Amino acid sequence: MSGGWVIDYETFSLEDEPTREALCALGNGYVVTRGAFEESRSGGAHYPGTYLAGGYNRLVSEVSGRRVENEDLVNWPNWLFLSFRHEEGDWLDLGSCEVIEFGRSLDLRRGVLSRRVRFRDPDGRTSTLRTRRIVHMRRPHLAAIEWRLTPEDWSGPVVIRSEIDASVTNGGVKRYRELRGDHLEVETTAGLDGGLGLVVTSAKQSRLRVAQAMRNRLSLEGDRDGDEAEAKVTAEARRVAAEHRLAARQGRTITVEKTASFYSSRDRAISEPAHEAVRAAREAGSFQELLHEQELEWERLWEQCDIEVEVEGDDEAQRLLRLHIFHLLQTASINSVDLDAGAPARGWHGEAYRGHIFWDELFIFPFLTLRLPELTRSLMMYRVRRLDEARRLAREAGHSGAMFPWQSGSNGREESQEIHLNPRSGRWIPDTTHRQRHLNAAIAFNAWSYYRSTRDDEWLSFFGAELIVEIARFWSSIATWNEERGRYDIAGVVGPDEYHTDNDATDRPGLLNNAYTNVMASWCLRCARRALEALPEERCGRIQRDFGVSDEELERWDEVSRRLFVPFHEDPEHGRIISQFEGYEDLEEFDWEWYRERYGDIQRLDRVLEAEGKSPNDYKASKQADVLMLFFLFSAKELEELFEHLGYEFEAERIAAMVDYYEARTSHGSTLSRVVHAWVLARMRRELSWGFFQTALRSDIDDIQGGTTSEGIHLGAMAGTVDLMQRCYTGVRLEDEALRLDPVLPDEVREVRFGLRYRGHALRVRVTRAEVEVFSCEHGPGTIRVAAGGETAELAPGGTHRVRLERESGASGRRAPSR
Ligand code: BGC
Repeated sequence: MSGGWVIDYETFSLEDEPTREALCALGNGYVVTRGAFEESRSGGAHYPGTYLAGGYNRLVSEVSGRRVENEDLVNWPNWLFLSFRHEEGDWLDLGSCEVIEFGRSLDLRRGVLSRRVRFRDPDGRTSTLRTRRIVHMRRPHLAAIEWRLTPEDWSGPVVIRSEIDASVTNGGVKRYRELRGDHLEVETTAGLDGGLGLVVTSAKQSRLRVAQAMRNRLSLEGDRDGDEAEAKVTAEARRVAAEHRLAARQGRTITVEKTASFYSSRDRAISEPAHEAVRAAREAGSFQELLHEQELEWERLWEQCDIEVEVEGDDEAQRLLRLHIFHLLQTASINSVDLDAGAPARGWHGEAYRGHIFWDELFIFPFLTLRLPELTRSLMMYRVRRLDEARRLAREAGHSGAMFPWQSGSNGREESQEIHLNPRSGRWIPDTTHRQRHLNAAIAFNAWSYYRSTRDDEWLSFFGAELIVEIARFWSSIATWNEERGRYDIAGVVGPDEYHTDNDATDRPGLLNNAYTNVMASWCLRCARRALEALPEERCGRIQRDFGVSDEELERWDEVSRRLFVPFHEDPEHGRIISQFEGYEDLEEFDWEWYRERYGDIQRLDRVLEAEGKSPNDYKASKQADVLMLFFLFSAKELEELFEHLGYEFEAERIAAMVDYYEARTSHGSTLSRVVHAWVLARMRRELSWGFFQTALRSDIDDIQGGTTSEGIHLGAMAGTVDLMQRCYTGVRLEDEALRLDPVLPDEVREVRFGLRYRGHALRVRVTRAEVEVFSCEHGPGTIRVAAGGETAELAPGGTHRVRLERESGASGRRAPSR
């Protein structure tokens, strides 16, 4: 199907519409609009949402006898609305028509969503409607629709109506509907000359002002004057509408071109949003002209970002990887660079998790860093700018340094909800997942990985080092000395697995010594020293003086990094296992089979158990990879070194047993989990890894969580699957001295080709089972070292390093414990 570039839907299905709306969302890193039908209004199967990157507002709701304040990603006025009716009839509603033919396609290569629907209305009239839509990648303030209606067997007067509808609220997530969603105040609705309409809204609390304007041009096929009849534009209290009345003629297509513009009070280089929005809508080119530029822009992006894969008997993998890259680039693009927005867990595609920023960037950045490192840099600035808030959070919790919150939105305060609704039981239950302090390790890890990949000394010197140092400080201060065992503890945390938030055995809120957290804390403490050492001496001294990093503090970091406690336990079947947290081994085994039989889908085991009056805290049952995160982030060699530094015996050969152990105890209630499992299994159990990869790849297209995709795509899993192909199966590793490739292609994958940016070089990489080839395009500073198949070569711009692999990558027998 179209060489892996088009997502096609050939059936009309209201049931699948919510998921399709999220998957067909169009965006440009500045604004994202769901792929809802133009004629739809919010309700039933439809939810036409429009979101601005980082466009938040706070509201206070009363729920379950409590006052809760939430910061939401605001659903801004719906600019899509475009519909028609017969003079005496109702507005088009496909739900009440006979849909004779239906086709909707998302063209990933060009960033175009189109739909063709042939339908018979309740009065027996047959029509064909064809629409195309773009949200402009090169002109972030513009979007456009081309709407074409052909009456097949009728003629008669029709009314065509196009709106910007500000009556919308936030109502996209059912679970949140008891909470307030009335974020918008309407400031202006106005019909302007030239058939233009303007709506200005303002978010009630954040006072973010958004101006949206539209221009509509109508023409009737075969009409000599091209009848660009000017619409009558009327302003109502919460919407502006342009109406055309005309006599439709059988067989003659009516075309409407709708151009919409968006400006906000946060934009740079503007006078005032309404002024800019009106001007942009008035001056925009035709749909065809905009489309041409859109195609050029996407062509450029794909040149940098495509991954070509040849998978035996399966072109779906190629298409889905491109779908994932497409949504990544629609969420964060060059248009986001000045926006001060983070990397949202669910894209700007829906209202799940309220558009908040979590640790998912750990899965998102590797793709961006190797393609468009300036995007990673700008997304990390979102953290840098919130350092003061993180310092405040640390202080309030009695710690030093910077403690970033688990969920953040506008200003970096903790945005995690305190209670959440279990839709199974209908109960609001306390939510303490905000104790996931490991997010701080992810931030430091990302900063260091970015630096290792780019050698961006300026960034490290002015921003990165401060970020890493302040995070190290936090880890040093949260660690407490345990005299009895002569080690440091970290208490009161939650690990990546959100099913375990408390352990009764400790009598304290949160968990004690989550292994992942503690090992990462040790890594961070060492990373801070490494970051300081990487700076020129004078700059290092400056930072130490500015932030008061004394020699004693450096010594303490070293001491804590060596003596953090990591829990292990003995399992009769698997031997010595890293325990997810202290006390884990005493939890009850969970009866997976019984629950699967009883409930079928138990990905969200927490909800199943809560509804039964039980708690996952009591069982060896995890929502997602936790200990295994260590094997995901570090190579076997790095792990051996990390544990040696911590003074623990750790044999890489034991990794396989630990993977087995936790694999049998994980429900994969987070889409991130399968990415991690696919990764850690890539070199030990390739078939299993490929299975996890495929399920992760289908997380959104198949909505495997049964309803969550419609609330927003899962950006971390999307990026994670791309990264599995980009780094894991190709064995790409950024080591201090060289770029290493040690491929382990799954049996099904014949070839992978992609471009990489590495230390200023633009590389083209080709990996097959027999060969690795790296070509450095003609520009790039100096030489880089590339290691593959046991050979290391200096690669100069214009040079190629080609290595035949001794044993075919992926050939059985080649087994290493971890990548
Ligand atoms: C996962 C987290 C993740 C969040 C946002 C949760 O379900 O447990 O690890 O950060 O979703 O994607």
